[in-house]
Amino acid sequence: MEKLIVASNNKGKISEIKALLSDLFDVRSLSDEGIVSEPEETGATFEENAVIKAKAVYMLTGCMTLADDSGLIVDCLGGAPGVYSARYAGDKSTDKENNELLLRNMEGKTYRSARFESAVALYRSENDVIIARGVTEGKILTQESGNGGFGYDPLFFSCDLNKSFGDATAEEKNSVSHRARALRALAKRLGL
Ligand code: IMP
Repeated sequence: MEKLIVASNNKGKISEIKALLSDLFDVRSLSDEGIVSEPEETGATFEENAVIKAKAVYMLTGCMTLADDSGLIVDCLGGAPGVYSARYAGDKSTDKENNELLLRNMEGKTYRSARFESAVALYRSENDVIIARGVTEGKILTQESGNGGFGYDPLFFSCDLNKSFGDATAEEKNSVSHRARALRALAKRLGL
């Protein structure tokens, strides 16, 4: 099987990507490969950041690399936290701190529609980069529900599943998530 490095140290992301792609590729995380650093996300869009991350690891290793850049878009917050989802409450902020800030910023808001978006970039060579996107729609709850998944999952009520991602099993989340949809679109582009 061909080796595919996932340019991330996010354990939640890696386990979702492994569950979705390990039938097709020998999926390796950065830590599996002994790579500790992650490139700075300086792009203005998920697509730009996915390409930045995939390119950096491809340049270091020469191996086919996949990167996901994703985040939560909340309509009544003007699209925040968006590309800043991982560091919403500050650099190196934890999921708990980000979720607490989101709940504070949503206090009193009745219009709570939101979506997760993912852009995935597959870097096979400098001239061969494929990008695909996925979206999943939901609403922001007024308190956390469930402790499955990672990040904002306990606050995200999925329209597809009719429950929060925190209350969903890994299989349920993978059947509708933004990341799974982006990866399925990518696999389709590859003819897989
Ligand atoms: P990235 O590493 O810059 O792509 O960070 C993505 C951030 O968006 C994560 O740290 C989470 O805060 C959030 N995020 C992305 N996808 C998910 C998801 O599937 N569930 C919950 N939070 C997510």
